[in-house]
Amino acid sequence: MSNGAVAEHATEPGAFACRPEVAALPRYNAGLSVAAVRSRYAVERIAKLASNENPEGCSPHAIAALTDLRTLLRDYPDAPSTAIRQTISELTGWPASQVVVGNGSENLIEMLCLALLNRGDRVVTQNPCFGLHELYSVAMGATVDKVDFTAGLDFDLAAWHAACARPARMLMIANPSNPVGCALNGPDFERVVAMAPPEAVLLIDEAYYEYAVGPAFPDALAVLQRQQRPWIVLRTLSKAYGLAGIRLGYGLASSAQLVDALERVRTPFNINAVAQAVATAALQDQAYMQASVQRTVQTRATLRQALEQDGYVVAPSHTNFLFFDAQEPAVALAERLLGHGVIVKAWREPGFESFIRVSIGTDAECQQFLSALRLTRSR
Ligand SMILES: *Cc1c(COP(=O)(O)O)cnc(C)c1O
Repeated sequence: MSNGAVAEHATEPGAFACRPEVAALPRYNAGLSVAAVRSRYAVERIAKLASNENPEGCSPHAIAALTDLRTLLRDYPDAPSTAIRQTISELTGWPASQVVVGNGSENLIEMLCLALLNRGDRVVTQNPCFGLHELYSVAMGATVDKVDFTAGLDFDLAAWHAACARPARMLMIANPSNPVGCALNGPDFERVVAMAPPEAVLLIDEAYYEYAVGPAFPDALAVLQRQQRPWIVLRTLSKAYGLAGIRLGYGLASSAQLVDALERVRTPFNINAVAQAVATAALQDQAYMQASVQRTVQTRATLRQALEQDGYVVAPSHTNFLFFDAQEPAVALAERLLGHGVIVKAWREPGFESFIRVSIGTDAECQQFLSALRLTRSR
């Protein structure tokens, strides 16, 4: 038995067996809440820099959209999320019939795995990867192959070429990457798409799109539109829009048929009424989001410079976080940082056990992180 928790439960009255894929599944590492750290460490000021939230939060218009709360809370939400999907369609130029929304983009990843993966299917993703790309695939009984980055922590096209030499059911590519932060540029994105096995569904996870978009970043929709295969581009309101709490992600899909497959496996009211109202208004205030992204990019440059001056090697970043080699065991370092009120994510995948991912917080939070790091590091 590889999972201690399962072994423990097996002796309890009423013990049962899960599907084997589920019994062996690791738990998603969602990190600690501010309240948990505050009570455990008795520190007042907490810098929560482990989950890539936007410290500035959402547009005030999004909160102002919560009028008539009593009715909003009383009634079932609009099951097809019509207003959000219409707004996304207007923003992206993609037909509303090919827009699908999820309870966070993690829900869309789950829906894609439920709808498309059979036991034994091969899924290809990155190493290190976004945990849920692997978890939901494994839960369905798929095998996951992970493609390495280069030594300089950038996309490795030769490695992708090798991985694409064998059949695959799905490619899951976070662009920009989480946790690394690097991004495929336009021509390289086209190369990877061209390499993909012809039968593979392409899941392009653009959770950090708003931080990366610019002349060098691929127009994924334009590239994928020329493909004769199912594909989907995922984005989220959890990061640049400052709305991780409401859980809203969206997918731009190759066809209404793919959307239909996802609609069949989703819970009928997967987007709650508050989320629908808030998300629609937030999407309509692009100026607020863009100004916030600009400030994050500036703070990111300052933090990068400080880390590099302290002798750390920091991966390229087109996101709202930095991934760096702490040059010591990361889990223990992150634990010590908690004592200073700083929450960061220590990486655990083999080969990256000395890496920390730190979100770009406010200037003050980044300063708190840097001071705590200088006090607690052991290298
Ligand atoms: C944060 C993140 C998500 C999850 O976003 P939610 O919409 O909050 O579920 C998905 N993919 C990647 C790569 C992420 O970093």
